[in-house]
This record gives sequence, structure tokens and C-alpha cells, in this order.
Amino acid sequence: MTERRRLDRVAIVGASLAGITAAESLRTRGYGGSITMVGAEHHRPYDRPPLSKRLLQGTWEADRTQLRSAEALAGLGLDWRLGQAAVALDPTTREIRLADGGTVGYDAALLCTGTTARQLPHPTPLRGIHTLRTLEDAVAIRAALDRAPRVAVVGGGFIGAEVAAEARRRGLAVTMLEALPVPLSRGLGERMGRLCADLHVRHGVDVRCGVTVRGFDGDAGRLSRVLLSDGTTIDADLAVVGIGSAPATDWLAGSGLLVDDGVVCDPFCRSSAPGVYAAGDVARWHNGLFGVQTRIEHWTNAREQAIAAVATMLADHGAGGEPTPYSPVPYVWSDQYGSRIQVAGRPSPHVDAVRVVHRDDATDATVALYRDGDTLIGALAINAPKLLLPYRRMIADRIRWEDALTAC
Ligand SMILES: Cc1cc2nc3c(=O)[nH]c(=O)nc-3n(C[C@H](O)[C@H](O)[C@H](O)COP(=O)(O)OP(=O)(O)OC[C@H]3O[C@@H](n4cnc5c(N)ncnc54)[C@H](O)[C@@H]3O)c2cc1C
Repeated sequence: MTERRRLDRVAIVGASLAGITAAESLRTRGYGGSITMVGAEHHRPYDRPPLSKRLLQGTWEADRTQLRSAEALAGLGLDWRLGQAAVALDPTTREIRLADGGTVGYDAALLCTGTTARQLPHPTPLRGIHTLRTLEDAVAIRAALDRAPRVAVVGGGFIGAEVAAEARRRGLAVTMLEALPVPLSRGLGERMGRLCADLHVRHGVDVRCGVTVRGFDGDAGRLSRVLLSDGTTIDADLAVVGIGSAPATDWLAGSGLLVDDGVVCDPFCRSSAPGVYAAGDVARWHNGLFGVQTRIEHWTNAREQAIAAVATMLADHGAGGEPTPYSPVPYVWSDQYGSRIQVAGRPSPHVDAVRVVHRDDATDATVALYRDGDTLIGALAINAPKLLLPYRRMIADRIRWEDALTAC
């Protein structure tokens, strides 16, 4: 739905990567009105990828994760409302209510509230069980790792994998628990999932697949054992639960906004309410490049979608340009044991969809391509960033599978 209302007041909810990118983009594109930045956390915007990498390793302290310097932030002229969760949005009065009872009025609002870490369905008061989403989470896990515990990583996704890699770098005993038959197989297929899991096995992680956590057991209020669905137990003093995340949309209940595994948007990042847009991990929209309704929890998408949503917002309000659909090639990376894993596009788990087109046993360098019918749809690279680049472009160009196989 397009707007022809004046744009004098923009409210951004979620003061993280998508939020700060949007604020910068508004200013860069000449918007001179007010920008209110509402953030549930007390921190200025900080970066999450280092939380499971350099911060856990101890090579970075918390202040290095800041996304922008104090001077750069001051230059944006934002009205900061940090440590204030938005608790309601009224699209009729165009007001956002904050936890302290205050309100923020808007002509346009951009929702960038990201996700929260999923928890296991076993509430327990035991100490030693963590999830990893925020700076505080990372600092707490690092402190726990410093006590040299036995570590259980629940979930073989990228965040769990990075925690496992850091724990092994420290020489700790690590068990990785994965409900699927092969870690990452739902996204990358069994063959490539196994290749990624082999990294952990080679570095001494006890990788157990096809098991789920049944509960936890402890001594003197501390975790000491993880109870598994196959009846076995694992001795562990630290459990890091990395079983995915859920879009932070609870506060929108009652707003009338269409929410379905994220804020549902059109191809231009517009929500179902006039003047309300969404970007980053919380947004679910139609990606016309692949013809799918999708939500992406990747760093690059949070940046690119924030810029796209701002472009739509300005165009809708007659403040420049024409709206264009947001149709990116998804991209994510992960660093484990000094190896870089990169995924572009939308890999398919189907067994006949994948073809390894490059493999060097000496360096582990691997490139695998994925097809959807006769079209290149995704690519996985391990230790081969330069080789991945042209495939990212080919995926964007919807190149034919046969052409992709002969191109590089
Ligand atoms: C440990 C970790 C490692 C990662 N590593 C990688 C990586 O290597 N590569 C990669 O591509 N991606 C990685 N990611 C994912 C990447 O960090 C996210 O995609 C990115 O942070 C999304 O940005 P965002 O601004 O959409 O949301 P978020 O960064 O989640 O920020 C949302 C913000 O909104 C706030 N908020 C929520 N609800 C409210 C409310 N009601 N009112 C006000 N504020 C609210 C939250 O407190 C938060 O500060 C990693 C994520 C984590 C957690």
C-alpha cells in the first residue's frame, strides 16, 4: 500500500544491524526529519557474528563489537530510546507504545526487532545452560568456557558449530547433539552436511546425531549431566543450546499486522499496515528471484533489506525514487577451526540436487553447486571464497545448470 503522507517522523524499532543501517540510509538519501531509534537492549548497536567467534576466543572485548563509533552515531542525529522495548503498535493512530508507558508517534515505522534464541522445552533452574544471541550471552559463555568445563553443544547449526570449535581450540571435551541424522542436512543435504560435520569429528568433537535432549540433571544447582532421548546421558558442566531462533513479534499481538513466522511483507518490504515496513531477521517477504515467501537470518540480508525498506519508504512518501522489489541472493558465512564455510542462494537438501565441482583434499577447499530443475539455485564453499563469487552472480542471473557447470 503506498503512502502520500508527509514524512517527518520515522520510528525504527530494533537498534541493531538492520536498524542502524536504515538510519544511515535515511540520512544518506537526504531525509532530514526526526528518527527515533527504539532498542530493547541498553547497548548502542553492536555486531553479532563476533559474539560466537572473536569474543568467545577472547581476542575481542565487548567494545570492539560496536557497529559504529560514538562520533558516527552522533552525526546521525537520532532520538535514542535504549533499554526500552516497544510493547505495542497502533497503526490507526500511528503510535508505538514503550515499556515505560511512553509513546512514539510516526509517519513511517521500520520494524527491525530480529529474533530471540529458541529454548528447549525443559525449564530448569540449573546454572550452566546457555543460549547465544546477545552480548551478555557471549560474555557469560566465555566466562563459563574459562572454567574449562565439559561442554555439550545442543544443535549442529552454525552457532553451535562455532561454539564447539572454540571449545575444542581450548582443548575442552565437547559433545555435539543433533536431532537430524546429519547436522545441517535440512539446508545443505546429507552429503554436504556430513562434510561440514566431519570438520568437528576431525577436531575431536563427539558428534551424536538422531538424538534430542530429554532433560538436564545437576549437582548443587549446577548442570552436570544432559539426558538424551536414546536413554544415554552425557557428563557436561556447560550446555550451549543452539536450536535456532524465533522472530521477535510477540509485541505486535493486537496491532492487526499480519504476522506469520515474522512480519509478513510484500516484495517491497511493506507490512500489511500503511506506513509500516520491516527488515532483517524479523521480516518475511516474497523474494521474487526464487518465487518464495522467505525469512532470512543472515547478516548481509539485514543490511541489504534495511536499505531496500528505506528506499521503499522514501518512494512511498514521495521523497524520492520508485519502489523496486527486494529480491536478493541470500548469503551467509561461518568460521570454524580456521575454515570458512559460505553459502549463497537457496541450496536444496535433495540428494540429486547437489554436485561437487571443486575439491582439494590438501586444503579442504570445496565448492558444491545446487540445482532446482535446470537452474542453478545455490552454492556452498568451504575455504574457497574466490571460487564462490562468480556463482553468487550466476545465481542472481538465474543461469542454467548446465551453463553453471561449464562456466568456471
Ligand atoms: C552469535 C551469532 C553469530 C552470528 N554469526 C553470523 C555469521 O557468521 N554470518 C551471518 O551471516 N550471520 C550471522 N549471525 C546472524 C546475524 O547476526 C543476524 O542476521 C543479524 O544480527 C540480524 O540483524 P537484525 O538487525 O535484523 O536483528 P538483531 O541483530 O537480532 O537485532 C534486533 C534488535 O531488536 C531488539 N528488539 C527486539 N524486540 C524489540 C522490541 N519489542 N522493542 C525494541 N527493540 C527490540 C533486540 O533487542 C535487538 O537488539 C549471527 C548471529 C548470532 C546471534
